[in-house]
Amino acid sequence: MNGRRAVIVGGSIGGLFAGNMLVQQGWEVDILERAKDDLSSRGTGIARHLELEQLLKRLGIVVDDTVGIDVSGRTAFDRNGKIIAEYSLPQRLGAWNRVFEPLFEKFPREHYHNGSEFTGMETTDVITKVQSANGQVFEADIVIGADGFSSTVREFVAPGVKPTYGGYVAWRGVSDEENLTTEFLASIFSHYAFLFVPKSLLIGYPMAGSNGSVTIGKRRYNYLWYYPTTEENLKELLTDNEGYL
Ligand SMILES: Cc1cc2nc3c(=O)[nH]c(=O)nc-3n(C[C@H](O)[C@H](O)[C@H](O)COP(=O)(O)OP(=O)(O)OC[C@H]3O[C@@H](n4cnc5c(N)ncnc54)[C@H](O)[C@@H]3O)c2cc1C
Repeated sequence: MNGRRAVIVGGSIGGLFAGNMLVQQGWEVDILERAKDDLSSRGTGIARHLELEQLLKRLGIVVDDTVGIDVSGRTAFDRNGKIIAEYSLPQRLGAWNRVFEPLFEKFPREHYHNGSEFTGMETTDVITKVQSANGQVFEADIVIGADGFSSTVREFVAPGVKPTYGGYVAWRGVSDEENLTTEFLASIFSHYAFLFVPKSLLIGYPMAGSNGSVTIGKRRYNYLWYYPTTEENLKELLTDNEGYL
């Protein structure tokens, strides 16, 4: 321990990377995560990049061939399934939880606080006191905001900065390999696929199965449909299991 303390708001991939890096350098770190439950079931496919593998390895996390499925490049299809363009770009495509879980397992469990929502902080010359909605107070030399695109920490440090709507939504889905047709498996499954349709873009790529398996027959195909819409329409479109967000 180097005697320095950090509080990280947000216990997803960003927060866990920062937290593990600081612990490795001798910091005492507490992570406040608003969600009450484990985040592992979040996320679908994720494209893995060299920087990601390097950072995981630096933390001593094993990165081997089972973390993803290799594709040779990107392939554009027309609406009849015919290939119209190919771009060589070897890449490994993985599953979000195969990034999150090893980071979560690496971090000291007793310092990861689920159900702890950041509500504010006060800074003096020497220390910052961080408050969470459940009444806990943490003292820190630094506070890191890793609380996502609608960050509450950002509201404190840069109140004038507001996110702006990008102009489109994305529907995201995942199919088990065993539910896909033979035709789809033969012509599209192994591709990082792009389909351009009027006002829309669809992309899809293979990913590990729900148990993390990359064995043939046990994998999944992950797809996104990007669709432009007005900000007013978001109220109707953004829903969860309990209704409108
Ligand atoms: C260029 C680019 C490419 C991307 N490609 C992919 C991809 O291929 N696949 C994919 O899945 N994603 C992709 N993403 C999205 C991104 O990787 C994921 O969304 C990732 O989970 C972001 O991690 P994060 O830790 O920054 O934020 P988040 O995952 O959004 O986590 C923020 C966390 O903060 C918590 N939180 C929020 N407010 C508070 C509060 N007040 N107190 C305490 N906790 C709070 C939330 O509960 C959440 O757990 C991409 C993003 C970019 C920018």
